[in-house]
Parts: sequence; structure tokens; C-alpha cells
Amino acid sequence: MTPAKKKSRLDDLNFDNRFIRELPGDPDSTNTRRQVFNACYSRVLPTSVASPYNIAYSKEVAAFLDLPASLCESEEFVQIFSGNRLAAGMESYATCYGGHQFGNWAGQLGDGRAINLGDVINQRGERWTLQLKGAGLTPYSRSADGLAVLRSSVREFLCSEAMHHLGVPTTRALSLIGTGETVIRDMFYDGNPQEEPGAVVCRVAPSFTRFGHFQIFTSRGEVASLKQLLDYTLRTDFPHLGEPSPAVYLAWFEEVCRRTAEMIVHWQRVGFVHGVMNTDNMSVLGLTIDYGPYGWLENFDLNWTPNTTDAAERRYRYGNQPSIGYWNLGQLANAIFPLIEQVELLQQAITSYKKTYEQSWQRMMADKLGLQAFEHTTDSPLCTELLTVLQLVETDMTIFYRRLAEITLNAESTDEELMRPLLDAYYVPEQLTADYQARLCLWLRAYIKRVQADGQPDAQRRERMNAANPLYVLRNYLAQLAIDKAGQGDFSLVNELLDVLRHPYDEQPDKGKFAEKRPDWARQRAGCSMLSCSS
Ligand code: AMP
Ligand code: MG
Repeated sequence: MTPAKKKSRLDDLNFDNRFIRELPGDPDSTNTRRQVFNACYSRVLPTSVASPYNIAYSKEVAAFLDLPASLCESEEFVQIFSGNRLAAGMESYATCYGGHQFGNWAGQLGDGRAINLGDVINQRGERWTLQLKGAGLTPYSRSADGLAVLRSSVREFLCSEAMHHLGVPTTRALSLIGTGETVIRDMFYDGNPQEEPGAVVCRVAPSFTRFGHFQIFTSRGEVASLKQLLDYTLRTDFPHLGEPSPAVYLAWFEEVCRRTAEMIVHWQRVGFVHGVMNTDNMSVLGLTIDYGPYGWLENFDLNWTPNTTDAAERRYRYGNQPSIGYWNLGQLANAIFPLIEQVELLQQAITSYKKTYEQSWQRMMADKLGLQAFEHTTDSPLCTELLTVLQLVETDMTIFYRRLAEITLNAESTDEELMRPLLDAYYVPEQLTADYQARLCLWLRAYIKRVQADGQPDAQRRERMNAANPLYVLRNYLAQLAIDKAGQGDFSLVNELLDVLRHPYDEQPDKGKFAEKRPDWARQRAGCSMLSCSS
């Protein structure tokens, strides 16, 4: 077999822009903010920027786009992925969608600062949509500026790649480019606007279709466009389901339910809190999409959300993500109802979400605990008590599970011996009262008994656990440190984190500091524990 030929120039990429070829577009080609009816997209050019520079790129994403490193490090790459130039075959456009924001119907939203460049067909025949985020105004920008700041772009770039390496379905990021221009943001909406460096991320996914893309048509009674988009989505992203028909629409919805459930189980496994699970931020492919005020659990807390914009209601808190997935799927069901018109069948499909979620969650918890299978009678109470114990005192979720693999499997051990490997997981040592220790050790002994009944060799239990429990995650303060340095023109930490997070389950020499719990200075620092939607 001859090795696949690498592209030497971006102009040689093979584009097949089916979305704009096959779907109804906006006849108005002016770039003015407006309501766009009966159209999936509007053509729009990215806005040019002054002096773009390359901050980082993902070599894995470049590889599946058949782009060699020399090209990713070229000036041509910077010009194209900052939005200054289109490569041959690129046709840029922004798409129209609506959505429920924080539970309320918000009407038309759309790609307000995302501009698609078209679909690359790679040498393996896969379709990948390229999308710039932060590349300027579109007809969907509403009252905003179409831009993105460096801090939020670093967060999106690093987290989407980190999530992929953790095994969580996600959109990807090819590049992170600084624009050389400033953007004004009032980070906490408190009347303190500041100039910040601007940046553009090139996101990559098989498609960026969201629940809201369907909702907008139904909300306006545009059923013909609704059908066109769903038929297109079936043929392009779900060809295994067969030719479109009401039965296939239903099978599609069931698959979206399943994928959404599986994605959220992964979030719960790794301690990821999306922060803005509005229906416009839900991908029909079950990909994690739109990295805004997301966060990683430090101390395990079902009630935690990083998003200060949601502080009062905590709608999108960690423990509520599974129910929000269900609620959002209900909105998608309403959106496709005109094409199916069978409430009961849609209802059954949504119910399947709960079932899939529960089964996948149990499988996931068994893996986290190193058990071969989840046995309902023993493991349901074991997990319930564990989640309670984890919340009694501030316990770092990531460290706790990783260290649990290391405990000595001897129920006769003293409490002190049992707890020793876990001590690093605690943020406030004074919280480890005698009562707490007794309760934790009771749980640990029940766990040991369960592991012994499971009967697998201990090395196998540890291996299973270490494949489900990451050692390295993009801790909130680590992202912030990388942002602080990047703001001073030093991109070394962005690139070092990108590298460490490529192997989140493996011990890495000299990288132990990235697996440590949040330092105390970061407890209340903006960007580390509190984030707003301002990005
Ligand atoms: P979000 O919930 O942050 O993903 O965004 C909600 C809507 O606001 C989407 O339609 C975004 O495209 C739009 N949006 C967010 N930030 C900006 C911005 N700076 N400029 C234009 N549109 C934006
Ligand atoms: Mg969004």
C-alpha cells in the first residue's frame, strides 16, 4: 500500500459544500443583522484581521485533514484560519438556528460569530466541516460583535481536544490564531468593559447541526424547510438509517436520544460541566459543542455550576445535566413533530433516553469502581453512599477515583492504612473528622468486599479504573494559567497542556504538577471557579 499523499497547499483540499448546495439559502447577500426566514444559511465572508499569528494547532486534527506540519506552521495557514483569505473550494456561510435559552424560547439565534468554510472530504472519504469562531459579524450576530477573545478561545481550543483524548464525543479544534486586534468585553457584566486580545478558533466536526436548527423552522411554521434539513441530515450524517420516511425520522430521533445520553454519561464520568446546555448548544450528533463557561469539578458537588450567569437557578449544574438532556430532547421532539405526528411514538423514544442513560451510567460507574459488571442489588446502594460520602467534605473527584485504584484490598486494614492513598484528594484536612473517617472507611470496606466478590485479579481492577478515571483533566485554574501567559505573548503553557492532555489516563514523567488539586489561590479567582457567558 502506498502511503496517503499529504497535501502541500491548502488550496488542494477537496471541498464538497453540500450544505449550501442542497439546502435553501438566504437570497439576501448583504451582511446586515436581520431575521432570516425559510433558509438554512446566509452567505457571509469572514472579516479580515490586522496581524494574525499562530498560537497552537492540533496535530491530530491536521492529520485527519491530511495537512502536514509544515503547512500548519505556514503563513498561508494563519491567513486562512484567521479568516483573512479563503482557500480554493471554500464557500463561507453562517447558519440559522433558534433555541431555548435557560428554559425560555429565544427565537432566532444562529451563527452569530461562527462562519463555516465548507466541508473537506479527506483521503479516507470522511466529511469534515470547518468552522471559524470569532471571525466577525454575520446576519445572526444580533446586538453582539461577532468576535471572540483570547481567553475563551484558549478554553475552547484546549478543552475540545482534551475531551476527545478523554474519549468524550466532541467537536474538534484545528487551530488557535490570535488576530492582533483587541475586543471589548465586560467580563462580569458589571460595567467594567476592558480591551482584550482577540482570537479565532477553527472548529471541526462532521457537522455542526444543533437541536435549534430544527426548532427555528417549526417555530415559524416552515415545515418544508424543516423536512429538507432533516432529510439532508439523514442522508449526510446518518446514512445507515436509510432513505427518509416517518419511520426513519423516528429511528433518527431515537439515535439522537441514545447519543445524547451517552455523551452526558461521559460528562458525568470525567466531571465536566457544560454550563450552557441551551437547545442551541446541543448537537444532533451527540457531540459536546460550544465551550463557553464550562468547568471541571474540583471538589465533587452535584450542585456546582461554573456559570455565574446561571448562579441563581443553577439550571445547568453538574447533577442536573442528565435531566436537562431529557428536557432538551423534548424540545427536539416538538420540533420534528410535524414530520411524524405521532405523540406516543415520540414519547416512547424520549423514554428510551432515560433507560439508555441509566444503563450507560451504571456501566460507567462499574468501570470507575473497577468492577466487571454493575450488579443492581449491591452496586446501587454502594454508588448512592459513595456519592453522598464524596460530598460530605471537599473531595477532589479526579484524584479520589484515581487513588481509589491504589487502596489495599484488605478489609482488616486499619482506617489509617485504608485512607492513606486517598488523603491527597481532600481540600480541607480539618474536615476529616472522626465521624467522617468512620463513614468513609465503612464505605471502603463495603467496596473491598464487593471487589473481592467480583473476583478479578487486582491488576485488572486497577487497569479498568485507570482507563475510566483520568489522571489529567483541564482543571479550571490550569486553563487560566495558560490564558494569563498567552495574554503576555507566551504560548508555551497552551502547548504544554495540549500535549499533556493527549494522554490523560497515563502517568507522565515530570508532569505530575498538572494532576494536582486546585491551589488555594484559585478558589475564588475569576476564570478559575467563576465564569460568565462573556466570551
Ligand atoms: P451561546 O449560548 O454563548 O453559545 O450563544 C448564543 C447565541 O449568541 C448564538 O447565536 C451565538 O452565535 C451568539 N453569540 C454569542 N457571542 C456572540 C458574539 N460575540 N457575537 C455575535 N454573536 C454571538
Ligand atoms: Mg452557542
